[in-house]
Amino acid sequence: MTKTERLYYRDSYLREFEARVVEVEPEPRGARVVLDRTAFYPESGGQPSDRGTLGGASVLDVVDEADAVIHILDRAPVGETVRGEIDWRRRFDHMQQHTGQHVLSAAFERAAKLMTVSFHLGTEASSIDLDSERAGHGQIEAAEEAANQVIFEDRPVRIHFRPADEVRELDLRKPTERAGEVRLVEIADFDLSACGGTHVSSTGAVGQVLVRKVERMKGKTRIEFLCGGRALAAARRDYRALSDAARLFSASGEDVPAFIARQFEEVRVLNRTRLKLMERLAEYRAKELYAAAAEKNGRRIVRAVLDEADVEAKKLAHEIARQPGAVALIAAKGSPAGLLFAQSPGGPADMCALIKQTVARFGGKGGGTRDFALGGGINESRLEEALTFAESLM
Ligand SMILES: [Zn+2]
Repeated sequence: MTKTERLYYRDSYLREFEARVVEVEPEPRGARVVLDRTAFYPESGGQPSDRGTLGGASVLDVVDEADAVIHILDRAPVGETVRGEIDWRRRFDHMQQHTGQHVLSAAFERAAKLMTVSFHLGTEASSIDLDSERAGHGQIEAAEEAANQVIFEDRPVRIHFRPADEVRELDLRKPTERAGEVRLVEIADFDLSACGGTHVSSTGAVGQVLVRKVERMKGKTRIEFLCGGRALAAARRDYRALSDAARLFSASGEDVPAFIARQFEEVRVLNRTRLKLMERLAEYRAKELYAAAAEKNGRRIVRAVLDEADVEAKKLAHEIARQPGAVALIAAKGSPAGLLFAQSPGGPADMCALIKQTVARFGGKGGGTRDFALGGGINESRLEEALTFAESLM
């Protein structure tokens, strides 16, 4: 198996390089290419792989396979030597997030005695998992503060290579099982870790680290964070959203939570009033519909199809049934559409049987008592027809 020299190990800032093509194999997406050396970072240790171009072809993925780095290209490269170019925006973003992670993890250890058990660098946000589900708000803030302090101090980030037996004697943040030569990443007087990833050359280039989300899970706390350009973009997005909200209230950003709380309270009060009014309205509607219904064999059958914005159907049905010798056959539009059948208590018909016969014919389900029954799942366009049918059975 080929051993690819990893140029990014010694120089994470190398954006262009030349290399000899060692292997080319066809691949469903294009070609699988191994070089004698590469500046392309293969996905590993929580950091995603690089993109860019190689011999004019697009790099779709970069994979670690033992000692070789496999480049997946959209087509085979031309020539025995190729020129590689790293998508620097993407790479530098990864370097900021990854170095920020070292700083944040070390800060959690120092400020809160919380160890990082895993790291994930995502396309939107990154996260570390701490070894306790009890990471408190104060601890998180203290770690964030300490991490940013180290970033402001712009401490050097140095790379060292040491034999594994020597590394075992060192005070690493997390012990390593690696054999042979081990790559160490040192943040001056703050952190020492074994890591194969790409990092910025001094902590100032991380810009800042912002904790954005805290998720408590079984036995661990997941801390989502943003560094550098991502933190800036998020701050801009937040500012825009807050400004938009503030404009709606003609207020300043800081006052938005108080305005929202006040509006919630107002809506709650208005809703209560609206419900009371809807009930009163249903009483009036019921009397009006009852008075207008023709009397037939000593009964008045009230039929009505209600729109969604109309009075509350259930209340209306009950109110009609409070009138003497009344039957209410009410249909309510909306999703789902429903039927409500009611009669004055102890009336001669069976509302439950009536609704069952109606849904058996028009689809849906229904049930209830002799005096009050509900049905649902009927096609809205057939409500009128369903009421005519129900009335014909009475
Ligand atoms: Zn690292």
